[in-house]
Amino acid sequence: MSKSRLEGKVAIVTGAASGIGEETARLFAANGAFVVVADVQDELGQQVVESIGSEKVSYHHCDVRDEKQVEATVNYTLEKYGTLDVLFSNAGVIGPMSTLLDLDIEAFDNTMAINVRGVAATFKHAARAMVPRNIRGSLICTASVAASVGGTGPHAYTTSKHALVGLVKTACSELGAHGIRVNCVSPFGVATPLACRAYNLGPDQIEANSSAVANLKGIALKASHIAEAALFLASDDSAYVSGHNLVVDGGYTVVAHS
Ligand code: NAD
Repeated sequence: MSKSRLEGKVAIVTGAASGIGEETARLFAANGAFVVVADVQDELGQQVVESIGSEKVSYHHCDVRDEKQVEATVNYTLEKYGTLDVLFSNAGVIGPMSTLLDLDIEAFDNTMAINVRGVAATFKHAARAMVPRNIRGSLICTASVAASVGGTGPHAYTTSKHALVGLVKTACSELGAHGIRVNCVSPFGVATPLACRAYNLGPDQIEANSSAVANLKGIALKASHIAEAALFLASDDSAYVSGHNLVVDGGYTVVAHS
């Protein structure tokens, strides 16, 4: 495989101020892509851009709950870099951590607005940019092991991640005619700020907890492993892969945990 697997390609990464999105923005840039770091954490997002230190990378504020901001982010990308080849729609929140009996329905709605509606809006506007320009693009979102099994995440989160697998399949069915591929990547537990906040633990403890229940031993899952999977789906290395849920879990979702 060549080192610059996205040479000259233009990508948007949402949720790129932190965690998996940040790691992926760095990897995409290291592989030759122009990258728009999109997030609601403006200061952190700018810091990511500065630390990458390439004029091919820039920040744009985008709250994925607001379709106008999503459209504006795609337009910004087209104006600045002339095209759009890859969307990594990765922004997400863990949502309410409560039991079903205590579920806060407004918090449920907010989780769906970010994790599902936000991804749908980014797919819509990225596809609107790609289809008339005949761009054989790649749309990717971040689902989760919680898209495959219940009980690994809270209720709204699990619901939202299952919905993304459906969105990937339906988007794939329409956009294949235009040469656009649609896939998702599904991580097992990674020690990002999202996981640390959810469980009120430090990164080392999150990583130790994940490793303790993991199927694959002798290796700890890192954000970089997810970024590598996103790079595969973004690049021509996955030229005939579409509608796929690329689960990066060391086998966790396919074995019994007794
Ligand atoms: P993170 O909190 O480090 O990063 C998420 C980013 O999304 C943050 O920078 C945040 O500001 C941004 N964001 C939140 N709401 C937004 C909004 N409305 N508009 C735009 N950006 C918004 O967490 P992470 O773990 O890197 O999460 C990235 C994705 O990976 C999420 O979709 C998450 O559900 C998924 N995921 C994470 C894990 C894990 O264990 N960390 C496991 C499976 C899936």
